[in-house]
Formats: sequence, C-alpha cells, structure tokens
Amino acid sequence: MGMLDGKVAIVTGGASGIGKAIVEAFVREGARVIVGDVDAAGIGRVIGELGHNQVDGAEVDVRDEGAVERMVGQAVRRFGRLDIAVNNAGVGGFAPIQAYPLEEWERVIGISLTGTFLCIKHEAARMMAQGRGGSIINIASLNAIQPAEGFAAYCAAKAGVAMLTKVAALELGRHGIRVNAIGPGLIHTPATAPMTAVPGVEAAFIAETALGRAGEPEDVAGLALYLASDVSSLMTGQTLYIDGGASLKKYPEL
Ligand code: NAD
Repeated sequence: MGMLDGKVAIVTGGASGIGKAIVEAFVREGARVIVGDVDAAGIGRVIGELGHNQVDGAEVDVRDEGAVERMVGQAVRRFGRLDIAVNNAGVGGFAPIQAYPLEEWERVIGISLTGTFLCIKHEAARMMAQGRGGSIINIASLNAIQPAEGFAAYCAAKAGVAMLTKVAALELGRHGIRVNAIGPGLIHTPATAPMTAVPGVEAAFIAETALGRAGEPEDVAGLALYLASDVSSLMTGQTLYIDGGASLKKYPEL
C-alpha cells in the first residue's frame, strides 16, 4: 500500500529540481500527478520517465489565471478528482534595492507569490466542490524568515507565501482542506547550481547549518509526502523549515 494510493495531485514547477523530486515521490506512493510547468520539454521528460498512466502535464505560467484554472480542470478531466496540490513554481532574482528594476520585482512577486495565490484559489474551489477535503502545500523558503541582501523581492514573496498559507488554512479548514508550507534552505537543484559553483559559496551556506550539509530535492520530497498524506491530518497553517538547522539562532561560542 502506498501512502497516496488513489490520490490525485498537481505539482507546479514539477519539471525540475524540488518539484520533480516531489512528483517522483508521489508517483512512487501511488498518486497520479499533473505536472504544471512553463517548460513543455521538461514536462515531456518527466512523463517519459514515470509513464503517462501515472503522470500528465499542463503547460502553465502560474501568473496566468486562465491557464491555472485549466490546469485544475485537467486534473479532474484526466484523473477524476483533485486531492493534493503542491504550489512549488518560484523564481529568484538579485539586485540591490536602490537599483531593483520594477519589472524584475514584478516577475519574482508575480511567479512566486501571486502565482501561489492563483493556484490556491482554483485548487481550493475544486476541493470545496468535491467535498472531500484536501492538502495544499506551498513551497516557501528559509528566506521567508531570514533576510538576504540583494534578494528583496524573493524574501518578500516567500514571507508572503508563509502568511498566505496561514490565512488560507483558516479560511479552508472548515472544508477539511489543510494548507501548509515548506521552507527549504540551500537545496542542490538546477536553480542553485550557478550559485554553488562559485568557490566558497556552498561552504559559507553549510557553515550556517547544524548538520553540516546542504539538502537534496529528495529531502524536501519526503516532507511534502508527509504533508500530503493523512499522517499529518491535524497539521495546518504551518511553515516547516527543512534547512539542516540554518534557521536556528546560534549563541556565540563561549
Ligand atoms: P528549479 O529552477 O529547478 O525548478 C523550478 C521549476 O519551476 C522549473 O521547472 C521551471 O520551469 C518552473 N517555473 C518557473 N517559472 C514558472 C512559471 N511562471 N509557471 C510555472 N512554472 C514555472 O528550482 P528549484 O530550486 O527546484 O525551486 C523550486 C521551488 O523551491 C521554488 O519556489 C524555490 O523558490 C523554492 N526554494 C528552492 C531552494 C533551493 O535551494 N533550491 C531553497 C528554498 C526555496
């Protein structure tokens, strides 16, 4: 018996990195999954690897409300229902605040925060109509609580995702829909590869952890599996940080 036997899930940004590992874990545990992503070729690769009986794709930019609505409709048309949604699509951007281009600010907030809102809106509407509850998981970041210079839009977006998670949990709880978030620290993915390739950068991150290592996408997928399944049935409104202890406030060594 898989932990998600018979369940149907959507994973946005599921063609790469953390999202792809979540798709793989969900399929392994018996779910059927819609991969929502802007990257059509990447969606095709995931379907090729996992098989089209278990996985289908929706080409979607999460900033486009019509496309988000169609993605949710596709889950129902293809697999008959929607039980789980992982709103994982997100992007970063780097610029000092006094020179932060408005267009870049709007791109990061648009994908990482507004996109998450649009997904919750349409996923929740579907889950409410079904009347069988559901689990919504938003991918925030350690940067929801830890500021990083040069990442104003990303930090603001992820703090917004953590608060949006609490409000959605309050509003949707009476319908049996749980809403939680995951806040990863540094995870090895295509998005972080250019940064960790810079000499010294990964070591600096690891020095801030208690466990002495960065994470792998599978680490995050394990937590998503917990939040998606009934094992976590009393948990809602929480952001769980998975960061090797990087969010722990250290006392100076005496
Ligand atoms: P990634 O770049 O490997 O994957 C992101 C996926 O999202 C890609 O497949 C991309 O095509 C898709 N995507 C981008 N814009 C989109 C849009 N507008 N609509 C739909 N899909 C879109 O990145 P990742 O490192 O796996 O990050 C996944 C999530 O985890 C992001 O929200 C990121 O902010 C968050 N996160 C990552 C880390 C890390 O260290 N990797 C740490 C904290 C939080």
